[in-house]
Amino acid sequence: MRYVIIGASAAGINAAKTLRELDEMSEIVIISKDTDVYSRCMLHHVISGNRNLETIAFVDKEFFSKNNIKWIKGIEVTNINANEKQVILEDNKVEKYDKLLIATGASSFIPPVKNLREAKGVYSLRNYNDVLNIEEGIKKSERAVILGAGLVGIDAAVALMERGIKTSIVEMGDRILPLQLDKNAASRYQKLFRNKKVDIFTKLKLEEVVLKEDGSIDNVRLSDGIVIKCDMLIVAAGVRPNVSFIENGSIKVDKGIVVDKFCRTSAKDIYAAGDVTFTAPIWPIAVKQGIAAAYNMIGKEKAFEDTFALRNSMNFLGLETVSLGVVEAPDNSYEVDVIETEDIYKKIIHKDGILYGAILVGDISYCGVLHQLIKNKINISNINKSIFKIDYSDFFSIKEDGQYKYEVV
Ligand SMILES: Cc1cc2nc3c(=O)[nH]c(=O)nc-3n(C[C@H](O)[C@H](O)[C@H](O)COP(=O)(O)OP(=O)(O)OC[C@H]3O[C@@H](n4cnc5c(N)ncnc54)[C@H](O)[C@@H]3O)c2cc1C
Repeated sequence: MRYVIIGASAAGINAAKTLRELDEMSEIVIISKDTDVYSRCMLHHVISGNRNLETIAFVDKEFFSKNNIKWIKGIEVTNINANEKQVILEDNKVEKYDKLLIATGASSFIPPVKNLREAKGVYSLRNYNDVLNIEEGIKKSERAVILGAGLVGIDAAVALMERGIKTSIVEMGDRILPLQLDKNAASRYQKLFRNKKVDIFTKLKLEEVVLKEDGSIDNVRLSDGIVIKCDMLIVAAGVRPNVSFIENGSIKVDKGIVVDKFCRTSAKDIYAAGDVTFTAPIWPIAVKQGIAAAYNMIGKEKAFEDTFALRNSMNFLGLETVSLGVVEAPDNSYEVDVIETEDIYKKIIHKDGILYGAILVGDISYCGVLHQLIKNKINISNINKSIFKIDYSDFFSIKEDGQYKYEVV
């Protein structure tokens, strides 16, 4: 059996590791554009100077040799011939497979803004190469604009701030981290950023990048006419799955590659996992999907059912936060309980005894219990204590036959 995996990151590496654990003998080949294995979640620490390529590697150097995995690195897959079971590389070489896993992740989306694609000094933050390019940009820059205030944009803003670059953040939504935080929680971070002299522009779009004669950036113009002087721009406006090598509908693609709960695509013996499936563009989901895919490739059925992707933890500028599930009540039929002090903000959204979302800022000690309650939709109607004080012991009970049972996990 010859297993081929495209992609050497969260999904691909964990799939390969699992395949090897389950099957000592078969051939495993990983093909990747990346020449290194590293955590994308930590790229901003390389920009800020706190880590380097070695200290963001999530497997050791011997991973491939120890596991007898062939790694074809630094090369792009340009086509898949599903009928012939072949992967075609950019140098026209062909790799045959019996089972194929596509774990090609996603790329930064560059929105169609005037001069954004042409300007010199525009960067994205997805790959280690982006970090090297940003590093070159920093050498020539005093002022930067970050487009997009999601997790990647805020990571970038913190890194540039730490490098002494005057940074401004532009966000279309009414607050930073709009998918992770409500207004109250976001405003606490916005205050911290403004204290550090980072400017934040919300409810505004980037309208145009104004260029100098040599094509470098002079300034950016926002939708209300505000002009921000800057030398570099980091675009953090979302991602799109890497599927350009899939031709003529040979594999079904919607927002990402369409997979069933066994990570099978529409093509025989081809599986997909991670950001390329657009299930949820976060690391833990890519890992779990990669592992599930490996089991199924080997013929041991394993469903991937952890689609609870709405969970985030952050610690920007020393303020810890966890957000789980929805961050705003969907309508008035939901109840919202809040505890608020100057340093702490806790909010739980619930309805008919079921918790749908929570935000914990400044004190995240309760997040483990809340995660389980929200993810598993545990009914808390019968528990007569404050919703902020429920703990695991409230879910022990005794079955009729005298055995203990535990209802949270
Ligand atoms: C700056 C940043 C911060 C992040 N922070 C967090 C965080 O705090 N928490 C969190 O959960 N997630 C975070 N993420 C998201 C997380 O990194 C992704 O969800 C995760 O990397 C997805 O893993 P993946 O294996 O699906 O794909 P990727 O990590 O995108 O890897 C794709 C692999 O496929 C290869 N590849 C792509 N196309 C081809 C091709 N045509 N031919 C050959 N090889 C190809 C690439 O070289 C790479 O090896 C962050 C991402 C970024 C960029």
